[in-house]
Amino acid sequence: MPQTCTICRHPERDDIEAELRDGIPYRDIARQHHVSKDALSRHRANHMSRHTATGLAAAREIMAILDKAETSTTWNLTLLTIREARRYVEELMKLNLTVSGSRVAAPDADAKLKNDL
Ligand SMILES: [Zn+2]
Repeated sequence: MPQTCTICRHPERDDIEAELRDGIPYRDIARQHHVSKDALSRHRANHMSRHTATGLAAAREIMAILDKAETSTTWNLTLLTIREARRYVEELMKLNLTVSGSRVAAPDADAKLKNDL
């Protein structure tokens, strides 16, 4: 499957990812690097490793995603944004479960997430 993500192919990808990690607003990064906010959001959700995020940084990012969901102009956009937040939480939980030594398969991590919420 061809890689179509404009951020992955962007010559300034490292800078863009550093700015995303630093919490610089999407609109500012988008303007500076001539990319769309949607592309930034998709790239962050699907292609950026979050393994180095601290718990607090991760919580901030999830809150930012949920804030975006609350202020979405359409229900469809709200659902997409909530899905992004869910993927993020699931990813963090799987990582945490792996780090803590329990070998938990993805479906178990999903079940644990549902129980905890
Ligand atoms: Zn990408």
